[in-house]
Amino acid sequence: MAEHTPTDTTESSSLRTPIVAVLGHVDHGKTTLLDKIRGSAVTEGEAGAITQHIGSTAVPLSVIGEMAGDLVDPEDFDLPGLLFIDTPGHHSFSTLRSRGGALADIAIVVVDVTDGFQPQTEEALDILRRTQTPFIVAANKVDTIPGWNPTDDQPIQASKERQPDRVQSDLDERLYELIGQLSDEGFSADFYWRVQNFQNNIGVVPLSAMTGEGVPDLLTVLMGLSQRYLKEEMAVDVTGPGAGTVLEVTDERGFGTTIDAVVYDGTIRADDQLVVGGLEEPIVTEVRALLQPRPLAEIRTEKEFEKVDSVAAAAGVKIAAPDLDDAMAGAPVRVVRDRPVEEVIAEVEAELAEVEVQTAEEGIVVKADTLGSLEAISSTLEDEEIPIMRAEVGDVAPRDIRVAETANEPTHRAILAFGVDILEDTAALAEQEDVRLFENDVIYQLVEEYDDHVTAIEESQQ
Ligand code: GDP
Repeated sequence: MAEHTPTDTTESSSLRTPIVAVLGHVDHGKTTLLDKIRGSAVTEGEAGAITQHIGSTAVPLSVIGEMAGDLVDPEDFDLPGLLFIDTPGHHSFSTLRSRGGALADIAIVVVDVTDGFQPQTEEALDILRRTQTPFIVAANKVDTIPGWNPTDDQPIQASKERQPDRVQSDLDERLYELIGQLSDEGFSADFYWRVQNFQNNIGVVPLSAMTGEGVPDLLTVLMGLSQRYLKEEMAVDVTGPGAGTVLEVTDERGFGTTIDAVVYDGTIRADDQLVVGGLEEPIVTEVRALLQPRPLAEIRTEKEFEKVDSVAAAAGVKIAAPDLDDAMAGAPVRVVRDRPVEEVIAEVEAELAEVEVQTAEEGIVVKADTLGSLEAISSTLEDEEIPIMRAEVGDVAPRDIRVAETANEPTHRAILAFGVDILEDTAALAEQEDVRLFENDVIYQLVEEYDDHVTAIEESQQ
């Protein structure tokens, strides 16, 4: 891993906001939960205490204190709050990498208490295991339990007391089932109020993202876990040269190609030189403008940005700079300050090289939209012992067909495309060369489609 030498000493060292990501199966309530946290934060925060960043929402400690009522006393904490990544799902989770691992410091895995574990729940757990990210489980939709008496925004104990015995034991039964399923996946888990050590045990928090009951508990556990186990990692030199991750590459009227990034270390200033991971090679450029949405109260249209002089970790920001066309989602952004640009280029290259996909002489071709997703798909394929001949970020192009058609096994004449486009003439060429294209934005579905294809070929050969 690359060395990072802070330019200033201890004086400038302070605690940054822990970054929280939300994962889980489709429809289990990830978006609703994020909206609930954001919505309550806006209400509690009144005069714009909540800050909306690009791609993330910062909820300061004081607002968390208000939202969690008696459960959180801000006096007990010295972390500044929590930064929630706005795009839920494990695709964004794996895309957002930082030096040596996941960008998110903590994850919330949302599981519908009625629906239980589903393929994407397991996929999320696999990713969290691989990245060694601490997480908690939100056992969502408790309000859908037959006979449930909703209690808006209450801590879950207060809410449980209001339920008839039969309803309470119904909930407990479902929670025990989740705890059992987590244990089958190799995680020791328990009701969150019985967990002593959140580093070794997964806390399960029953809640409803819709009514808000149990959300105070979720915030309490997130804060407690961060304060107790992440404090050392949160101690960063916030005035040092900034380090971040590209979230998205977008076109912004008046600014050309810009990148949305999350800064997880140091500060990016409006006059900094930057190195950004690119499709072909690191891009060396200079910040033209740092943009953030206007405070919520002032927003009239959805996209109104204001220029800021600097952005300190942890925060989201839109960066306008020349030559960003080849910037890659999931790639590092580094500030060049007080050190040679070559050193920073080497750092970015080293970080990109960390994303290693095991390739073989014979196998399929994988194309994905970001490094993180490429890594996630490749690891799934590896688990299933499906060999990969080439794995790359980018759209499916005729040259990929040229690679795929060299495979000897008929089952290997295939390209798995995740979140990317198929360029013109490529599909026709694939058909002509008998190369199968598979496209899906959900990893397990993509792999399942390919598996079905392999089964069909094998059956036809019998
Ligand atoms: P996502 O795909 O995981 O982001 O799920 P969404 O947040 O979009 O939720 C899927 C559906 O479940 C939506 O219709 C939500 O209104 C509903 N939903 C989410 N959370 C709850 C909850 O706590 N209670 C109830 N009753 N419905 C919920």
